[in-house]
Amino acid sequence: MKKKIKKLLIGTNNEGKLREIKNLIPKNIQIFSTLDFKFRSPRENGKTFEQNSIIKSKYFSKKTNLICLADDSGLEIDILDKKPGIHSARWAGKNKDFKAAINKVFKKLTAKDKNWKQKQIKARFICALSISYLNKNLVSVIGKVEGKISNKAMGKNGFGYDPIFIPNNEKKTFGQMPFLKKYRMDHRFKAFKKIKKFF
Ligand code: IMP
Repeated sequence: MKKKIKKLLIGTNNEGKLREIKNLIPKNIQIFSTLDFKFRSPRENGKTFEQNSIIKSKYFSKKTNLICLADDSGLEIDILDKKPGIHSARWAGKNKDFKAAINKVFKKLTAKDKNWKQKQIKARFICALSISYLNKNLVSVIGKVEGKISNKAMGKNGFGYDPIFIPNNEKKTFGQMPFLKKYRMDHRFKAFKKIKKFF
């Protein structure tokens, strides 16, 4: 991708993610969001975060004729065979109930190992970012933040699984951290650093 981007559509209907991504994009780029257009998201039938981010960015680009940046992200928990993974949003159900999703994580961990609360449960957030124009994927990158699962939900900041994720070398969950601190160390930020040169 040689030309610098002037206008960009952010392909997400998740306000938490949109807020983080908006903060990362240079102010001279005119930003549109799929929330402005009230588009529904496409079916994410890829097998990886990367495939799903490409599906979303192509889909929204074709709908608007704008270059589109889309992400796909989620939480991988090693002893749950990397679940919820690409199904992270789906675990919260239609009502986007993340209390329920977090309870599901705790239930699955207990089923796997009833003493999990005394152990280090390795996990990571992953973010794939892709930029596409119409049917052409221009670039895709991956960012990761390693950490562990907290033995109880803590903190009211952030969204999704933030209250149960403690990044390595920290004592607090993402849900307990101020927004700025979390967003500067998270998977989206790391992915973004890799894609920054295109702006
Ligand atoms: P999708 O990328 O729209 O399929 O959704 C990914 C899901 O992963 C979100 O709905 C969140 O539940 C979860 N997720 C992704 N990034 C974060 C994060 O930074 N904090 C907490 N949960 C996240």
